[in-house]
Amino acid sequence: MIFRVAIPTPLYRLFDYRPPIYGPETAQPGCRVRVPFGRREVIGVLVSLETESEFPLSKLKPALELLDTTPVLTQDLFQLTSWAAQYYQHPLGDALQQALPVLLRQGQPAHFQHQTLWRPSSEADLNQLSSRAERQRELLTLLLEHPQGISTDALRAEGGNPALLNTLSEKGLAESFERPPALPHADNTGHELLREAPLPLHDEQLQAVEAMHRAQGFAPMLLEGVTGSGKTEVYLQAIQRCIEEGKQALVLVPEIGLTPQTIARFKARFRVPVLALHSGLTDRQRLDAWLWAREGSARILIGTRSAIFTPLKHPGLIIVDEEHDGSFKQQDGFRYHARDLAIFRAREHGIPILLGSATPSLETLQNALSGRFRHLRLTRRAGNAKPPRFELLDIRQQQLDAGLSAPLINRIHEHLARGTQVLLFLNRRGFSPALVCHDCGTPVDCTRCDARMTLHRQPPHLHCHHCDRQTPIPRQCAQCGSDQLRPAGSGTERVEDRLAVHFPKTPILRVDRDSTQRKHALERIMDQVHQGDPCILVGTQMLAKGHHFPKVTLVAILDADAGLFSADFRGMEKTAQLILQVAGRAGRADLPGEVLLQTFNADHPMLNTLVHAGYDAFAREELQLRRGGYLPPFAYHTLIRAEATRQGLAESFLLSLRELAAQQQLLPDSVQCIGPFPSLMEKRAGLFRAQLLLQAGQRKPLHQTVSILIGLMQTHPEARRVRWTLDVDPIDS
Ligand code: ADP
Ligand code: ZN
Ligand code: ZN
Repeated sequence: MIFRVAIPTPLYRLFDYRPPIYGPETAQPGCRVRVPFGRREVIGVLVSLETESEFPLSKLKPALELLDTTPVLTQDLFQLTSWAAQYYQHPLGDALQQALPVLLRQGQPAHFQHQTLWRPSSEADLNQLSSRAERQRELLTLLLEHPQGISTDALRAEGGNPALLNTLSEKGLAESFERPPALPHADNTGHELLREAPLPLHDEQLQAVEAMHRAQGFAPMLLEGVTGSGKTEVYLQAIQRCIEEGKQALVLVPEIGLTPQTIARFKARFRVPVLALHSGLTDRQRLDAWLWAREGSARILIGTRSAIFTPLKHPGLIIVDEEHDGSFKQQDGFRYHARDLAIFRAREHGIPILLGSATPSLETLQNALSGRFRHLRLTRRAGNAKPPRFELLDIRQQQLDAGLSAPLINRIHEHLARGTQVLLFLNRRGFSPALVCHDCGTPVDCTRCDARMTLHRQPPHLHCHHCDRQTPIPRQCAQCGSDQLRPAGSGTERVEDRLAVHFPKTPILRVDRDSTQRKHALERIMDQVHQGDPCILVGTQMLAKGHHFPKVTLVAILDADAGLFSADFRGMEKTAQLILQVAGRAGRADLPGEVLLQTFNADHPMLNTLVHAGYDAFAREELQLRRGGYLPPFAYHTLIRAEATRQGLAESFLLSLRELAAQQQLLPDSVQCIGPFPSLMEKRAGLFRAQLLLQAGQRKPLHQTVSILIGLMQTHPEARRVRWTLDVDPIDS
């Protein structure tokens, strides 16, 4: 018997071992094994049991230990991950590692950690303690309040001193016992499934929910619903049916969308266990959640990208909310797209999948238009909310005060005077995106990137947002020695400053990564907004998604042009999505909303289509352009990125790769090779970057070509000085 093992390395191959001494007869694919690898010991996943190896048995090292008697990776997850490794052309060992919770990667056993709890013994009696043993009496009193048991942490939180537990135990007054962790949010008090009644659905919602209920087997659906149309209610009622059938639902949300508000809506509706897989969990809590999902007791799982690898005992439904969101695509290493894995997974399970968005990605929209996905639509807002009114505010010839035009300032005054709230969106944090010499025009650049340093005021320093380099503010221009260094352009801090001058009596609430770093800072700001008094919110895309601001009636996008002329062919799509997401914060309740876009390009055709005819009209025009330009979703892309410490090296590596492939006639006519080119920001974090784009009308020849190129790169003499990575279906260029 030979163990074929996937090991987390950058190598595209599996490794053979002799079985370990103990327990090889229980080995099954999907179990973890500890094996020697070079000078290290690593944990790999058993992929198959073989009878032959390409190496003689005597050359194979024995595996050290079999860590599981039943596979940690259920068969369907194993398949999902193998498919993903193959599709994204990523080494299987690394992909399998990433599919596992951290503690399992580290070799911890795949079971719940039993908790030690303390309770009073049956003889416990306060009278047995002398009145002078005050702290022991306090502790025993606490224990008596928790006859079912309490953890030492909880005791400490209630003011008890756990150090005295042993003293009480020696006196026969307290005892400890072990218990598996309790599933949070488990409510076994009643038989009712719901905590609150579902909302009566409006027509379009009803059609969507009925379509979900009728779905049998694999059924991919796009739920395209304008912001505020009640997509979440559709999710909730689709999930309800799935739970009634005894199954589990997996809900994927964008990184920024897993807010306490979102989780609370699911918990408020259902009595069954709802588990959120968020970044605040410890590794232990993550493993527990994973185990509860695997044993089927967690019924609704809500998580970000990596939650797609959560095992489900009784899969019933997958929902991907804000399916267009870029955070579903992992941007380093194993560059999978969780939405696309979700579709694969739903097909494997034979269950429905619902992709929801107000601004679907063009990939998904094309799938819906071509009939591959069912297209469900919510075109109106729920309840009394009306769609917001859009206006392009032409700022050519306008004086701007830190990015604010006079007409905008007037409009803010009007809304505040009516007692409502205002939201200003600017996707640039910091005080100013550049610090420039007034005498010679030289900006202060990052030494490690082709980028300006951003000026920050709190505390005063320069910060590169690309490599995180931070420096004090220089006094003099490095070029000419002048001391006239001045901020150029505005970020959120500067806008906040100017607003305070124009609106001295109104609270200004800034929401960006800097202002919300401290724990609970964001919650406090949100609480103040929800009080409902007039205020001005100014912030980055942290404000754009998920939040519900019933009193906001004016949304202004300070720089609608950002991204309009991007070199990335997806620039316009991303801009449109962001604009509509932000705009969706306006007028979500009974008060009508208005959206102002400050632009130097008020005649821009696509911008006009977007704001006057809506996302759908925009998206159809954009799809026409893509079709004409032979771009995704009408062609497939794979990007080979390379980086090196010396300029030109990455580019020449890719060039020689291309030439080598051409010489050996390895490039079929159906695959176009575009580049290599230096990346848009060539130097980043001290590395010089270049890329080669491969494009084809079909996936298969593209995939084959890339496999061949991987082989060439691995044996290329320059490969030691260049780091290369692959990106299948890239969303950033
Ligand atoms: P979306 O996710 O599409 O932006 P939400 O699901 O957040 O929209 O719904 C927006 C608001 O409309 C919420 O306050 C929600 O409670 C309310 N709502 C949703 N469906 C209905 C309905 N059928 N009747 C009344 N109010 C509804
Ligand atoms: Zn200068
Ligand atoms: Zn930098």
